[in-house]
Amino acid sequence: MKILSGLNLEEIQQITDELGASKFRARQIHNWIYLKSVKEIDEMTDLSSKFRDELKKVAVVTDIKIKVKQVSSDGTIKYLLEFPDGECVETVLMRFDNRSNLTACVSSQVGCAVNCSFCATGKRGFIRNLDYKEIVEQVLTIQRDTGLKVTNIVFMGQGEPLLNLDNVLKAMKIFNENFQIGARRLTVSTSGIVPKIKELAELDMQSTLALSLHASNHETRLKLMQIESKYDMTELHKALKYYIEKTGRRITIEYLLIKDLNDTMDCAKELAHYLKDIKCNINLIPYNPTAKNDYQRPSNNSIMRFKSLMEHSGKKVTVRLERGADIDAACGQLSGKAKA
Ligand code: SF4
Repeated sequence: MKILSGLNLEEIQQITDELGASKFRARQIHNWIYLKSVKEIDEMTDLSSKFRDELKKVAVVTDIKIKVKQVSSDGTIKYLLEFPDGECVETVLMRFDNRSNLTACVSSQVGCAVNCSFCATGKRGFIRNLDYKEIVEQVLTIQRDTGLKVTNIVFMGQGEPLLNLDNVLKAMKIFNENFQIGARRLTVSTSGIVPKIKELAELDMQSTLALSLHASNHETRLKLMQIESKYDMTELHKALKYYIEKTGRRITIEYLLIKDLNDTMDCAKELAHYLKDIKCNINLIPYNPTAKNDYQRPSNNSIMRFKSLMEHSGKKVTVRLERGADIDAACGQLSGKAKA
């Protein structure tokens, strides 16, 4: 049985060709999948019922299941999605007040090998890569379930996207061409896989690169992110410069603020120094405590002091609005833990 979700127009045409139907039928099916987000072939009402019956013999819209759905008091929705092999990932839909943007936070792997100390996903270890269709399916599932059109996609769910780059790039192409989501509305977030950042730089894409830096010096970063022992901040700095030089794009620096660990004024000064020649915006993320470690959220005062010092260094700084913390959908809280 073929799965229609995730196929491009040419691939859908191969199916319609085999059924002896015209290219126009393929275009209709494509629109039903990507623009109208149908769940069933029978909902494709501009296809004749005879043709729908033929199509149903060889294809289904999707084989992914919503295992758990949680809705936060702020409107954030977290899905636990199950693939046919029984593996699950989490996908989050975030809505921001006063904005029409609907942002899907997608997973790129089941589990993650990087094992950052603050992250619930890392605790599971690496299980497998998602293929590009499984990444695309996460967004389609959100659209089918809510009837809403996703406008932005961030690869910030479970997994390290740059360790599954081929599938991530294929999915991005589909988001761009099939969903008509502009490349600038696609963000790939990395823990700092230096060779892959360079590879991405060569591709000269319009999408945004976000780096989870989370520390202002080697020692602190090592405590938070084991990846620092493989690609340290000095190498990372070179890779970021290379990326900016090649693409001309501004990157986003993600910085988790953890009480008494990396939220001091000395850390802010050190961070400003590290980033002084990096074209970037800074996104401060007050830590969301999880049950699995002792890290604490800093006070609002120290968040604001840190922000103000970074702004004085000439950077644009935002404090990320916390979304879905009450349903463990906030940054670092995804674990895929409901796997049966
Ligand atoms: S923060 Fe990202 S890279 Fe680090 S363990 Fe979690 S999923 Fe992996």
